Amino acid sequence: NLFTETNLSPDILKAIGELGYESPTEIQKQTIPFILSDIRDLIALAQTGTGKTAAFSLPILDMIDDTSRKIQLLVLCPTRELCLQISKDIKNYSKYMSIKTTAVYGGSSIVEQMRSLKDKPQIIVGTPGRVIDLINRKALDFSAIHWLVLDEADEMLSMGFKDELETILRETPETKQTFLFSATMNKEVERISKNYLTKPHRISV
Ligand code: AMP
Repeated sequence: NLFTETNLSPDILKAIGELGYESPTEIQKQTIPFILSDIRDLIALAQTGTGKTAAFSLPILDMIDDTSRKIQLLVLCPTRELCLQISKDIKNYSKYMSIKTTAVYGGSSIVEQMRSLKDKPQIIVGTPGRVIDLINRKALDFSAIHWLVLDEADEMLSMGFKDELETILRETPETKQTFLFSATMNKEVERISKNYLTKPHRISV
């Protein structure tokens, strides 16, 4: 299994081995060592189907502190479907770890989601609107966030989530690392990157 060269922990290698992943995809080859080196922000131009969920979540799972019960990773994505897909993937990758992941999205009971946040997940996957609602209800503690992932940033912006994204970028710790994934680059994506990312490393697959 060519993933052994990535130095990911045995718990992660076991989980992805069971999923039948034999070797890292192109984007994973680029992001895994970069994210593990824990240096700085990232912009990745990548389409769906390239393995981008594993590309950011495997190295983050490797570094996350499972003894802390504060939110360390926040993933933002445009739709409920994507939210459920990403959280399912992360749960599969972390099945041998003491990590909890909660998905929060619109069109579903906010009370129910606030209840599941009481389990103290280390990872939140959410749509921007619902995350803002939960911030307003003081249901999210962002003080320990180390990584913020903007998945399908172009989609989120074209759906009109600009203000929500900017609020979340501002409400999360300045010390965090931000990883922006987008299928396309346009003015709006560039503007967000320029205003909120620090000297981002760029990759394209
Ligand atoms: P994504 O681009 O994250 O939506 O991933 C596309 C599909 O590829 C998903 O079904 C993943 O489970 C799968 N996948 C991701 N990484 C690998 C890998 N290294 N080997 C085989 N399948 C993978």
